[in-house]
Amino acid sequence: MDFRYKAFFPNAALLMASDLHKPFPPYKPKGKEDYMNPRQLAHFRKMLEEMKRELSQDIDRTVHTMQDEATIFADPNDRASQESDMSLELRNRDRERKLIKKIDETIVRIDAGEYGYCDSCGVEIGLKRLEARPTATLCIDCKTLDEMREKQVAK
Ligand SMILES: [Zn+2]
Repeated sequence: MDFRYKAFFPNAALLMASDLHKPFPPYKPKGKEDYMNPRQLAHFRKMLEEMKRELSQDIDRTVHTMQDEATIFADPNDRASQESDMSLELRNRDRERKLIKKIDETIVRIDAGEYGYCDSCGVEIGLKRLEARPTATLCIDCKTLDEMREKQVAK
């Protein structure tokens, strides 16, 4: 996952399956299945763990890059751009940490048997939506309503 270009995206909780370096194979239901049966839960757990692994690797890489670049430049302009690079890296790292926290919380929901249901109204979030956003806690209707309210507040 490369979050570098999304550093300014305000919603730290947004984690998309399409962010994965390696596309995760989608879930294939065997005929008519119960929603959130053990096989489905195992699928999403694996997907979340894979995302977490990639994020942790990205954090490690950032730390190494920063150590490598910790040269003191004589030119104040170089120093200034180095400083802004570093603060961007730090922001990225902060975002990655938040995403990992979100993944951990989602895995807790799987363990608790709460995964896949809307936090607000209780309906099934749906395989398709979870496949794209495995950390989603709201159904699409509640999410849309939420975003409309946010926009109202922002005005
Ligand atoms: Zn809902």
